[in-house]
Amino acid sequence: MHKYAQVIIHFATTTEIDRVFTYKIEENLKDKVQLGHRVKVPFGRYNALQIGYVTEVMKEIEPVGYPLKAIAEVVECEPMLAPMQLDIAKFIVSYYGTSFAAAIDAVLPPGLSQKPFEMKTDLEEYIVLTEDDYKVHAYMDQNSHKKTFLRQKYLLEYLLIHRKVLQKELENMPQVSRSSLKTLLQNELIIKIQEEKKRVQDVICYDAFKTLSEEQVRAKNSIIDTLNNKKYRTVLLQGITGSGKTEVFLYAIKEVIETGGTALVLVPEIALTKQTLERFQERFGSQVALTHSRMTPKERQRLYIKAKKGEISVVIGPRSAVFIPFENLRLIVIDEEHESTYKSESMPKYHAIDIAQMRMKREKGVVLLASATPSLETYYKCQNGAYDKVTLDQRIGSAILPEVITVDMRLELRQGNNGVISQKLYEAIQDTLNLGQQVMLLINRRGHSSFINCRSCGYVIKCDHCDVSMTYHLASRTLECHYCGKKLPVPHICPACKSKHIRFLGNGTEKVEEYLTEHFESYGIGRMDLDTTTGKTGHSKILDDFGQRRINLLIGTQMIAKGHDFKDVTLVGIISADLSLYMQDFRSNERTFQLITQAMGRAGRGDTKGKVIIQTYNPEHIVLERIKSSAGELFYQEELKNRELMGYPPFANVFTVLITGENEQQVIEAAHTLTQYYRHYSQKGKGVFRVVGPSVAVISKVADEYRWRIIILSEDREKLLIYGKYCLQKFNTTKTHESIKIQWDINPLSMM
Ligand code: ADP
Ligand code: ZN
Ligand code: ZN
Repeated sequence: MHKYAQVIIHFATTTEIDRVFTYKIEENLKDKVQLGHRVKVPFGRYNALQIGYVTEVMKEIEPVGYPLKAIAEVVECEPMLAPMQLDIAKFIVSYYGTSFAAAIDAVLPPGLSQKPFEMKTDLEEYIVLTEDDYKVHAYMDQNSHKKTFLRQKYLLEYLLIHRKVLQKELENMPQVSRSSLKTLLQNELIIKIQEEKKRVQDVICYDAFKTLSEEQVRAKNSIIDTLNNKKYRTVLLQGITGSGKTEVFLYAIKEVIETGGTALVLVPEIALTKQTLERFQERFGSQVALTHSRMTPKERQRLYIKAKKGEISVVIGPRSAVFIPFENLRLIVIDEEHESTYKSESMPKYHAIDIAQMRMKREKGVVLLASATPSLETYYKCQNGAYDKVTLDQRIGSAILPEVITVDMRLELRQGNNGVISQKLYEAIQDTLNLGQQVMLLINRRGHSSFINCRSCGYVIKCDHCDVSMTYHLASRTLECHYCGKKLPVPHICPACKSKHIRFLGNGTEKVEEYLTEHFESYGIGRMDLDTTTGKTGHSKILDDFGQRRINLLIGTQMIAKGHDFKDVTLVGIISADLSLYMQDFRSNERTFQLITQAMGRAGRGDTKGKVIIQTYNPEHIVLERIKSSAGELFYQEELKNRELMGYPPFANVFTVLITGENEQQVIEAAHTLTQYYRHYSQKGKGVFRVVGPSVAVISKVADEYRWRIIILSEDREKLLIYGKYCLQKFNTTKTHESIKIQWDINPLSMM
């Protein structure tokens, strides 16, 4: 019999109590407390009841020398955390150094209250006969003389045969009246019970599967062989845009379902559209469910239960779907695996690929990463044999990759065109629309003008609270700060010198839209960015309009670059390739390569060859050179060499610390003191750690908070995490300024 339990307190806010505590299990709960149970335990000086989770049950413990408290109650009859979920939580704690509480929140469905979590989905009402046949017959005999008894009699006779019938079904029978049901209920011959709805699972629809190309068959077979090996493996499916990757992994999922397994499919949030779901539902029917961030906690709880009970076999969702509690999980697909949305930016700051790999190692299954432009980390792991790689080199059908042209915007300027669209792009748009085809234009910045300055004195309008210039928004006719959201009216005179000559420089989606409206309005124009996609149907409405040809020109931020499949798009324009090239981030080359390649992937997916026009002030930039000559492999090789030379990922791990506070002097001081700790303890690490900084962050002030950062690099991830956190703890105990805030992350995807 288990007499003791280790319990993690869920409300742990400080590091001191974010650990296990030992509790007694008293006689009355002995058979009830198991591993993973949610319990209430007395905690702290006043023994307030707190929610906790049982992480271990024990028969014996070492004597502790003080009286142990006892578990007060068990919340649910069944353990809330399955062993698999407990393992994931433990992994998060050790791999990302976050609190148990945060890890458990990630693993469990949102919106749990202190009340027992009901593992029930949809309920249905049944009518059941309570008495035995003899008593029912006696009742019938007693009442048979009554005229009104006919309907009751019919009902009882029916129930004598069937015993338990759906109330809805009875109510639909013409011979049954509501009043007779009521009378029988009153006389307690029948009762109402609620039971979970029975589900009939759809079978796989084999006709919906496409006949694969030779290349696809090879990829599919290779993936299915790996699945059937029943060993953990990560496989990269690298296929150029439009090569039919999705079709290949649909087959892999079919194989999994046919052999009694389940599968998860992660896609970037923006790709979670009706079209994606339909593509899966056509094949797997009601065995598939979708989850997304706009679902209510209740809806997400229902999905969680369905998955746990095995009522569904496939879930498609964003990053957080990696925690769906499937049994028999054999495959996790991560589509567009290079996307940074797979890394969480809030605690726990996990990466979905890490979690997927941890789960599949445990279940001996396969992680399938799909991308046309894999991350450098993934590419590297394929090269050194840690991952397998299967490739698709051809587009489906007669589609071929588009022609790529760069336009030198310096020349354009010299020729007197200081507008947002070059002559060449203008002509191409005109030609494309004339041919009845569609155009997509990408500019990775929302708003109209990103830079407002005075012609007379050069004053630039910046946010009062952030170190960034304000962006002019045409639709709202306001200036907006993209970092803190603050809005200002548009000034008519310069705040500094009162001059009337104010210029609106820098381009955004609205400026391009304005230009297009002036020249091509009759073709129908749509704009897709953060400002036009709020609300539940936001982006799907715009994409629908584009797909149905109600609009023929679509302008947008990176949102439009991803995954969409429109056959009539033959021209893609990149308005300003330079925007992402010169970010102060070692990944800026990689990101630009991915963004432009993905955007290019939207062109010429049908029968007509596509064209891509890239506008830039730096046509010689290596990234653009490599894209133009379709030298993707070369780009990856060169970029890997650079990273190795610089000692950056994937050759090192990065621990970042961001120090913020309203008092600039205090922030600077804190950053320097903390750096001293890092330098001091790095000497003990014998050159394992490289400390960079402290330096002011790229955006030096946001919402009145000054920002400094420290970066530490090391090949040894485990040591780096321990050391990174250790120095922070040391610093925290001696911290003099209470208002200083510190955030940290291991292997973040953005260095801002
Ligand atoms: P990717 O995921 O590589 O971008 P998709 O799987 O979305 O590519 O395929 C691109 C388009 O080609 C889709 O419209 C898809 O339905 C179609 N397609 C894919 N494979 C085949 C095939 N074997 N036969 C016919 N059409 C296909
Ligand atoms: Zn001025
Ligand atoms: Zn601001």
